[in-house]
Amino acid sequence: MPHLTEFGNSLDGELFTPDSPGYDAIRRPVNVAYGDVRPRLVVLCRSASDVVDAVTYAAATGNRIAPRGGGHCFAGRSSTEGIVLDMSGLDGISVSDGGVATIGAGACLGQVYAALHASGRTLPAGCGPTVGITGLTLGGGIGLLGRKHGLTCDRLVGAQVVLADGSVVDCNNDHEPDLFWGLRGAGGGQFGVVTLLRFDTVPEPITTRIEAHWPDIALEQLVSAWQAWAPDAPDELIANLTLVSEPGAPVQATLFGASTLEEGATRELLQELIDGAGAAPTIELRSGLPYHHLKRTFADPRDVPERALRMRSEFFSHSMAHGTLASLLTQLGDPGTTGRREITFTAMGGAYNRVAEAATAFAHRSERFLLEHIAEAADPWVDRSWATAHADGSGRVYPNFPDPALDDWAVAYHAGNHPRLRAVKNAYDPHRFFDFPQAI
Ligand SMILES: Cc1cc2nc3c(=O)[nH]c(=O)nc-3n(C[C@H](O)[C@H](O)[C@H](O)COP(=O)(O)OP(=O)(O)OC[C@H]3O[C@@H](n4cnc5c(N)ncnc54)[C@H](O)[C@@H]3O)c2cc1C
Repeated sequence: MPHLTEFGNSLDGELFTPDSPGYDAIRRPVNVAYGDVRPRLVVLCRSASDVVDAVTYAAATGNRIAPRGGGHCFAGRSSTEGIVLDMSGLDGISVSDGGVATIGAGACLGQVYAALHASGRTLPAGCGPTVGITGLTLGGGIGLLGRKHGLTCDRLVGAQVVLADGSVVDCNNDHEPDLFWGLRGAGGGQFGVVTLLRFDTVPEPITTRIEAHWPDIALEQLVSAWQAWAPDAPDELIANLTLVSEPGAPVQATLFGASTLEEGATRELLQELIDGAGAAPTIELRSGLPYHHLKRTFADPRDVPERALRMRSEFFSHSMAHGTLASLLTQLGDPGTTGRREITFTAMGGAYNRVAEAATAFAHRSERFLLEHIAEAADPWVDRSWATAHADGSGRVYPNFPDPALDDWAVAYHAGNHPRLRAVKNAYDPHRFFDFPQAI
């Protein structure tokens, strides 16, 4: 058996055992629901060769391995009692003259946006600044520029991956194309440990920030109007709708989003929604914001590290029927609410749907919106609310929002791409070294 000390001495990074100072801080993922999982080892990786050594050591000692970027996985897949690979030491970011960004797999979105901003570039990517670029990209990557520029994984042009046998492969459309295909949207940790990502970035746009509140409105009319409007709005605009219920208070409706249009043009588009909703909100528009600055102005409801939240979600390829929507809203506004409950409608359509379903591993290219249900982990409302909406859902689930309660997860996450994903898994990880519940 390989010796732990020898392994530790060979690293550019650091090794943490349960006896090491700092172990308790580094072992915890951001998601507190998995804060009690105690890995045998945490390897803080600072180079691809550290990842190779860790994979080789784990294989030789029969340990399970879990790569960790931002540590946000809703299903706890970046936690294990075996070996956690903390990738945060691999966070270098550079941008070529042609706008191709080379990003270390451990970088988080806040770092990525800041570094790209310095070069006048950006990526269509997600909101939480501490979310890992790799976890986000491997599962797709939905964000405020997505209706214009697609998923984060649609901008990926290459990656470096350490496979289960310790080999290091570079993949892109021409080289190891099946692996590259699988990395774009099947979810994290499926085929190997990614050490580097290359993206074709876009020029950073100047944006208008959108926030609107309806303190007192007929919710059904608002949601109906949003469902008919937001997924078909021009690609330049994305406006998501959140409904929040708190004990003893009426449900609050908030529209938030961004447009790459001037304030006047943005306001005109919003008027279409307001006309449909039948009531005027208080609207705050702030124009002239570089995208990087706009991102920092939004707090993410899922970014509450101190609370264990549960989230379930589904895609919708058509609007909810009147009866479904009415039941959903009644349950949300139930006066017996004991804690904060929230549903969020995220607009899809636009560039997300201009990519063929089989062109990348991300299979959900005909959806109109995504609906999330979020509450305290112990609140049974999440399941009830999800089941009510599910009557009209497309049965598709975003791989970055893994849901252990799904019956047919393979179809939900991967739809028609599942058979090809299985073939890629067999080719690149035939012994299922990278494994977790609901892994391909
Ligand atoms: C606050 C918050 C905001 C969010 N906002 C958005 C959003 O705007 N848009 C959106 O699309 N999603 C969003 N998400 C969901 C997010 O995309 C997923 O939770 C994502 O998987 C997180 O990646 P991570 O690196 O932070 O998490 P981790 O838990 O570190 O990793 C997630 C998965 O990827 C694997 N993985 C990590 N690094 C590697 C690697 N180097 N190689 C191979 N596998 C790896 C892990 O093993 C795990 O399976 C948000 C989540 C939260 C909690």
